[in-house]
Amino acid sequence: MAFPPHPNEESSPTPSAGLLEIDLAAIRANYRLLQARLGQTQCAGVVKADAYGLGASRVAPELHAEGCRHFFVAHFDEALALRPVLPDDSTLYVLNGLTRDAVGACAQAAVVPVLNSADHLAAWRAEAARLGRILPAVVQIDTGMSRLGLAPAEVRTLAQNARAFEGLDILFVMSHLACADEPARAANAEQLANFRAGHDVLASHSAFARARRCLANSSGIFLGQDYHFDMARPGAALYGINPLPGRPNPMRPVVRLHARVIQTRAIPRGVHVGYGYTFEAPAPVRVATLSVGYADGWLRSLGGRGTVYLDGHRLPILGRVSMDSISVDISSLPEGAVGTDARVELIGDHQSVDQVADAAGTIGYEILTSLGHRYRRIYSGEARA
Ligand SMILES: *Cc1c(COP(=O)(O)O)cnc(C)c1O
Repeated sequence: MAFPPHPNEESSPTPSAGLLEIDLAAIRANYRLLQARLGQTQCAGVVKADAYGLGASRVAPELHAEGCRHFFVAHFDEALALRPVLPDDSTLYVLNGLTRDAVGACAQAAVVPVLNSADHLAAWRAEAARLGRILPAVVQIDTGMSRLGLAPAEVRTLAQNARAFEGLDILFVMSHLACADEPARAANAEQLANFRAGHDVLASHSAFARARRCLANSSGIFLGQDYHFDMARPGAALYGINPLPGRPNPMRPVVRLHARVIQTRAIPRGVHVGYGYTFEAPAPVRVATLSVGYADGWLRSLGGRGTVYLDGHRLPILGRVSMDSISVDISSLPEGAVGTDARVELIGDHQSVDQVADAAGTIGYEILTSLGHRYRRIYSGEARA
């Protein structure tokens, strides 16, 4: 069956959920902006979860081209995958630390674990002894969030044990802020004080002779210089997510996302749309079904709440989000204006990642990391194109 051509038609419609465009030049500009804000402080790059869903193997070399030499991932496997795409002057850190089966491989690959517990510490020390080498590490201390890192009492005990860090070269003492995106929270200053105190306890130990300090994530950078220390670890802001919720976004948008119209119809008053019949037309409605669903990160919580845009017109989502499609109200557009294969904006000039997240009742981080692999991806703005 031949489809009639339509003015909105993508020049080469692809059989995918849609088009995900990732602007690498914008990621580099965001890195430069953060580095400028940090002054003498090193700006690392957090590229865990495939660089927040945007493709770590494409993103990490771009950050390197801007001078980034420190890369953080969550799991050892993520570090291994990135090793070949990064020049040898880069250091890869594993935030979640060591797992028993990866200790040897971690040392072999010269990946730096973040030691979060006394168990991690003992395993890495044993590996250093086995190899007869000094092994590099980051030590994380818990300053309030109770997620990862040595508790204050453990820090004190270990600092008094001359052999606790034997064979290790501690590159950084790090911690993580729980409320950096809420600058008014007292927790920020409390964590800052706990971080300084924890570091001071450890600093007397000989393994910490070279140790520097690393605390801030994206939002933490904007809490001011007190939070910068020697290195910061931004992720979200690099990818265009607003590090200052409720205030103007200083970052450049990185992602554009379009889906296609796969069918249109007109329904009379009283007819329903989607699973559960949750939408009932209060009047005649024209409906377009789009090629994106919750399996593509268009979260189910956007049902009846989210919107998309076509030629600048706001189109509300009708009813529930399906796995592979959503339905939107196109009644505000002239009849016949929306044809099959028309391109619809999900993220772009009219709607930011953060706005989609707001509508879904979540944060931009979850939107980006949920996008998945059914979109055709187009990267633009490579440093060495
Ligand atoms: C994810 C993560 C970051 C990056 O946080 P953003 O808010 O994305 O900048 C930094 N540090 C740690 C420990 C993390 O887990």
